[in-house]
Amino acid sequence: MASDSIRNFSIIAHIDHGKSTLADRMLEMTGTIEKRKMREQVLDRMDLERERGITIKMTPVRMAHKVAGKEYVLNLIDTPGHIDFSYEVSRAQKAVEGAILLVDASQGVQAQTISTLQMAKDAGLVIIPVINKIDLPVAMVEETKDEIVKLVGCAREEIVGVSGKTGEGVKELLDEIVQRVPPPRVSDASRSAVRALVFDFEYSPHTGIVLFVRMFGGTVKRHDTLRLHAIGESFEVMEVGTFAPDKRQADELSVGEIGYIVTGIKRVLKATVGDTVMPLHSSNEPLPGYAEPRPVVWASLYPESQDDFGSLKQALMKLQLSDSSMSFEEEASGSLGRGFRVGFLGMLHLEIITERMRREFNLSLIVAQPTISYDILFRNRNTGDARRETIYSPARFPDDGTYESVIEPWVAITIITPPDRVSALMPLFHEHEAEVQEIELFSDRRNAIHLFMPLRELMRHFFDEVKSVSSGYASLSYYMIEPRPADVVRLDVLLSGDVVPAFTKVVSRRRLEREAEDMTEKLKEILPREWFEVRIQAKALGRIISSRSLPALRKDVTGYLYGGDITRKMKLLEKQKKGKAKMKERGKVHVSQDVFLKVMKRD
Ligand code: GDP
Ligand code: MG
Repeated sequence: MASDSIRNFSIIAHIDHGKSTLADRMLEMTGTIEKRKMREQVLDRMDLERERGITIKMTPVRMAHKVAGKEYVLNLIDTPGHIDFSYEVSRAQKAVEGAILLVDASQGVQAQTISTLQMAKDAGLVIIPVINKIDLPVAMVEETKDEIVKLVGCAREEIVGVSGKTGEGVKELLDEIVQRVPPPRVSDASRSAVRALVFDFEYSPHTGIVLFVRMFGGTVKRHDTLRLHAIGESFEVMEVGTFAPDKRQADELSVGEIGYIVTGIKRVLKATVGDTVMPLHSSNEPLPGYAEPRPVVWASLYPESQDDFGSLKQALMKLQLSDSSMSFEEEASGSLGRGFRVGFLGMLHLEIITERMRREFNLSLIVAQPTISYDILFRNRNTGDARRETIYSPARFPDDGTYESVIEPWVAITIITPPDRVSALMPLFHEHEAEVQEIELFSDRRNAIHLFMPLRELMRHFFDEVKSVSSGYASLSYYMIEPRPADVVRLDVLLSGDVVPAFTKVVSRRRLEREAEDMTEKLKEILPREWFEVRIQAKALGRIISSRSLPALRKDVTGYLYGGDITRKMKLLEKQKKGKAKMKERGKVHVSQDVFLKVMKRD
């Protein structure tokens, strides 16, 4: 395949602006998928994606398109729109030369439009700005063009108008892609030596690991012996091919192309996205690859039945193969038994992964309230040496006074909102400890608000609150920034004097009282009564902050005995007394799995 007839591009946009639908029309128009096999959002291949109507995984596909009698190969990578999956987007962007920036004409520029555009610019891509859904009666084409001109800094004439629904303008867009996106750059040196970027991969028990690659040098054929640079694993190529969008075998993959390599490696290896495929013996430098994604939220996952512990572990390992951004380690917790502490890129990511486990692996799971990680700085009083430790679980958070300082993750947030909602949003920013950086009049119908905020506060349902205060009109996007010192404390829950580690939380010092009250009150409602009075206490900073008492059960055990038999009655009461005393002696409140569930479940 001559590289000057190849065009590699991705489509980027805010969620629901129509990426997958536009991809459908392109596939149809280029005859890549037969009309009778066509269905909506055909590239969303996972059941979960189809049901929810969102793209979770990027999907590559190869199309043929003729311009002025010359045949071109267009490789498209469809990407997800939600913030949690921006790692997928950034990976796709390193495999292409151009990006279509799609903006819904009825919505205008949204928060995610801005952040994905930034990623594309950082990757040095040629940007083609496109307005979608021009068929809609409510389309505001001219206003949206104004916004795009301001955002991208392009000329008005460069903006292409399309409808992914009717297909209007799509053929012209394909022509524009051929004209504007540069072909892959090929130097003489890169022509010979194999270098391929692994941007994704797949595992099947039958063929082992299948690499999704972008060829940056050389040619790969069946029976070649190659090596994955970072993990140092060599393999003989079993098959190569391209995406149509199903895998289609080919004779070879040459420089500039996007395709797959079947490795036959069946051992479960550490994730390898961003790795470089090279010849067995090569002194060439590997490609730059990707930055490791860092999980930002953590949640404990337990099988409902401990018999499923092994299956849960298997499921996590398999999911990690197709989603390298997830990480996990084993943990154990009292009445829930053995489980895992799992790291995710965000709340939607958590939701999607747990849903996939339930469906694809048939597991019943208990998912605890997610938390974030903190970095704790300890200083040795004698030597003065400092030690830094990352804490992923509140139960491991040290007691006040035993450490020097705490560092927590912060995020930069962009909110796009109609100007008349700004004042209603302000109290929310204050409540969530946000620093407002700038309120920018983005266009006459839209403000862009830039904030810095602790991730801890973003996780306290900030997104939902913004949505509700703005009646659904505001959109939000965020990225991680430098962590900062945190004013947080550990809050423990004691039942009759014993700490229950699974209920421990890390909370903002200024919200300490409220959190403590909420916790004891909630437990008072949930806990079943015992034969003895149960003290429910919330403790922090070495003192009890809030306390409730759950009265003892008083059941009349003699109720079913009529009249006369006083001795039997006495006996029964005596027995009950003994029972109570015994329980009191043991003094321990048994927290059932059911109670754990109610407390730990996400509110
Ligand atoms: P994505 O999240 O960017 O992949 O967006 P989808 O392709 O899943 O589309 C989101 C919604 O917008 C779906 O309900 C589509 O049917 C609808 N949609 C996409 N393109 C158009 C269009 O050009 N016109 C109209 N009217 N609706 C569209
Ligand atoms: Mg999509």
